[in-house]
Amino acid sequence: MLDTTSFPKAKKIWSMGKIHPWSDTTLHAMTHALHYGTSTFEGIRAYATPAGPKIFRLPEHVDRFFVSAGVLKMTVPYTKEEVTEAIKLVVRENELESCYIRPLFFYGYGNLGLIPKASQPTLVISAWEWSSYMGEAALGGIKAFISPWRRVHHSQLDMRAKLGGVYVQSTIAGLEARALGVDEALFLNIEGHIAEGPGENLFVVKNGGIKTNDRTESILEGITRTSILEIAKDLGIKTSIGPITIDDLTKADEAFFTGTAVEVIPVTQLIDGSDRNVPKRETTIGAGKPGPISVRLRKAYMDIVRGADPKYDRWLTPIK
Ligand code: PMP
Repeated sequence: MLDTTSFPKAKKIWSMGKIHPWSDTTLHAMTHALHYGTSTFEGIRAYATPAGPKIFRLPEHVDRFFVSAGVLKMTVPYTKEEVTEAIKLVVRENELESCYIRPLFFYGYGNLGLIPKASQPTLVISAWEWSSYMGEAALGGIKAFISPWRRVHHSQLDMRAKLGGVYVQSTIAGLEARALGVDEALFLNIEGHIAEGPGENLFVVKNGGIKTNDRTESILEGITRTSILEIAKDLGIKTSIGPITIDDLTKADEAFFTGTAVEVIPVTQLIDGSDRNVPKRETTIGAGKPGPISVRLRKAYMDIVRGADPKYDRWLTPIK
C-alpha cells in the first residue's frame, strides 16, 4: 500500500477509462514526461455545498485542459463530456465531500527520444482532500519573495497552457522562497513587471479598486482570477487590467494571491530579491494585515464556492 499521508482520503484513481485502487497505479521510470516534463494538468476543486459536493467552474477547467493538451501537440483520446464525467466519477468513487482534483495527461512509456513517437499518451485523474494550501495562518497574510528568476516569457512558450515542464521553475522559486523563511515566491516577467506566483495570480488594491495583469505579462490567466474580476464587478468594486510594477505592489493598499489551491490569500509582506547584486529589501504592504477589499472578496468567493450565493450557482457542477 502506498502512503497517502499527503493525499488524505484518496482511495481510487481513474486511468484511461477505468477506476483503479489508488495503490495499484505505477509508472515505469522510462515514462517520457518524467524526463522532459511533457505533461499537462489541471487543478480543480470541489466543495461541500448544502446540495452535496459541487465542482467549481468545471467546464472552464476542462476547456483549459484541452487547450493545454493542444499546446503540447497531444490529442485527448476522450471528448470533453467524457472527461467531465470521469472527473465527477472520481469524486464520487472516493466519496469526497470537498477535494482537490488533478487531471494529468502525459507522454508515457514507449521511447525516450525527445520526440515521443511511441510514448503512450496517458490520462489519469485523481482526487483527495486538500483543505488549505498554505494553512489557516495564511489567512492572516503571507510574505512573498520576488524571485531573481524571471517568469518564462509568453514569446517562449504558450503560457495559456499548464505544462508540466514550466512548473520546474515554479518549484525552484518556491523552494528558494521557503529556504529564506518566506511563504511564497513571486515572479517578475522579462519586462521587469510583476508576473505571477508559482501557482497563483496577483492582485493589487489601490483607492478601493483592484488591478491584475493579463497574459501579455506572461501569466496563466487563472480561473480564480477571472472569477474574482467578475465578483468584484458585481460588488461594485472598480477593476482594471494592466502591467503591475514593483512600485505598484510596494505602494498598494492591499495585495492578494488567487488560485484554485490558495483560493484568495492576502499578501502583506514583500521581500524583493529580484536583483542578485542588491541586498534584499523588505516592505510591508498597506497596513501589513488583511485589508477590507481582500477580506470582502475572499468571503464572497468562499460563499460562492460553498453554494451559499445562488446567483452564482451556474459556476457549480454537481457530481451526481
Ligand atoms: N498561475 C499559475 C502558474 C498557476 O499554476 C495557477 C494555478 N492553476 C494560477 C496562476 C491560478 O490559476 P487558477 O485560478 O485557474 O487555479
